[in-house]
Amino acid sequence: FITGKKKATEVAHSVWKSIIQKGDTVIDATCGNGYDTLALLTMVSDESYNGCVFGMDIQQEALDNTSSLLEISVDENKRKLVKLFKLCHSKLEDIVQETPVRLVAFNLGYLPGGDKTILTSPRTTLAALHAACKVLQSGGLISVMVYIGHPGGRDELEAVQGFASDLPVEAWTSIEFEMLNRPTAPVLVLIFKK
Ligand code: SAM
Repeated sequence: FITGKKKATEVAHSVWKSIIQKGDTVIDATCGNGYDTLALLTMVSDESYNGCVFGMDIQQEALDNTSSLLEISVDENKRKLVKLFKLCHSKLEDIVQETPVRLVAFNLGYLPGGDKTILTSPRTTLAALHAACKVLQSGGLISVMVYIGHPGGRDELEAVQGFASDLPVEAWTSIEFEMLNRPTAPVLVLIFKK
């Protein structure tokens, strides 16, 4: 699934496709401009199956951008499968409650085209990763795209790596993708629940 992929996000989407089944419930923990939300929606739903995408972001601008992208990309019935929340992802347990979740996607950093001073931080990212572990079903995946080019990016990567490394191997498999010939490319951390 890596052949021909130039971007870490393309690699991430390929991995998601291999895990997600139609009808699943998934979470986009950082909606941003909505590209991941849209990709997740196409993975959980088709003509016969209605999955669900819970999406969240702390910025109204991001939620508006996500809604606009969905509006021009999919019909109303599909759009109804996406539930958007203006919420910090550390609170993600509040919205999914008892629903089994197949995948939680994080795309860290700031909103592309938006205010670069509003960005994810290690403290809330770690709290969100703990919450994601709790809501994830067996066979599920936490996918974390970490950008290292901006100030604080490498600290956040270290925090995510530390979290993923400490998980007990009996229950979790943690993997990291790094593009060696693109040293400033984002790093993809994948955490699989057995
Ligand atoms: N997934 C997006 C896409 O496909 O366009 C890109 C996400 S962008 C790199 C990161 C987003 O995380 C920003 O929109 C930012 O507002 C959001 N964010 C920052 N801190 C957050 C938090 N604590 N909880 C939820 N979202 C947060």
